[in-house]
Amino acid sequence: MAVSTLDIAERVVCRVTPAQAHVWALCGGFFHTQYRSGKSFIPTYSSLLGTSVHEIIAAFDQAIGVAQEDFESLVGRNWRAGRFVKDDDQRALSEAMTLLAAYADLRRSETVQVLDSEVFCQTRPRTVGARQAIVLSGRIDRVARRDDGKIELLDFKTGAVLPTRHELYNDPATTIYHLLAAERYSAQRIVVAQLSLRTGARVEVELDADGVAAGKERLREMARQLVADDFSLTPSASCAFCPARETCPALLFGGETVERPL
Ligand code: SF4
Repeated sequence: MAVSTLDIAERVVCRVTPAQAHVWALCGGFFHTQYRSGKSFIPTYSSLLGTSVHEIIAAFDQAIGVAQEDFESLVGRNWRAGRFVKDDDQRALSEAMTLLAAYADLRRSETVQVLDSEVFCQTRPRTVGARQAIVLSGRIDRVARRDDGKIELLDFKTGAVLPTRHELYNDPATTIYHLLAAERYSAQRIVVAQLSLRTGARVEVELDADGVAAGKERLREMARQLVADDFSLTPSASCAFCPARETCPALLFGGETVERPL
């Protein structure tokens, strides 16, 4: 979903998702190019596999008690034909089966109560300035209640790479997930977790009051930059995936962090 700014009763309302906030934290120029200008990610095999596996897991969670011998038919019913190029389809199907089996193993070993899968959440507008507000929205892969009453937001990864605990804690996407769940589920103790279905590795954080306050400050700054159209360029390994990399001044001027001129 593209970032949009709408004038409502003389107030500018910014709409931001966790994915957008994550990209903003990587580089404002990347964020600006990809979302503000409406250029979306070019789908890759990995991103298409991720989308397919998320759909299948949501179907698995809805069809409680699917036996392993029925995985093939569940995947077949929820497999979107034509999403992959022909040569990739069988490979993706086989990987999806393996990752679904990994998820089924997880479900057998955990005691959480799954509340929602692939659930869309949106906050009411939150004031961030005299004439500015922000609406946070996004899809949460899975929401569950743990035995100790905490709400767990689980983000499934089909790749092997996860952030460190420090990176996840400080990612503005984590703040957005936290605020989405706090509003929708009236929750106070919220765990934001990522799980690699490929390796079984997991990283999770629980924002304390200081973490929420620092995260909100980042979101206020992001909203300010959105309205002011004021982004800095921060070169990193992410430049390899950035749609601006052919023309980006930061790369043309030797990888220095560059402030955009007024
Ligand atoms: S190429 Fe790199 S520095 Fe330039 S906008 Fe993209 S991510 Fe930022």
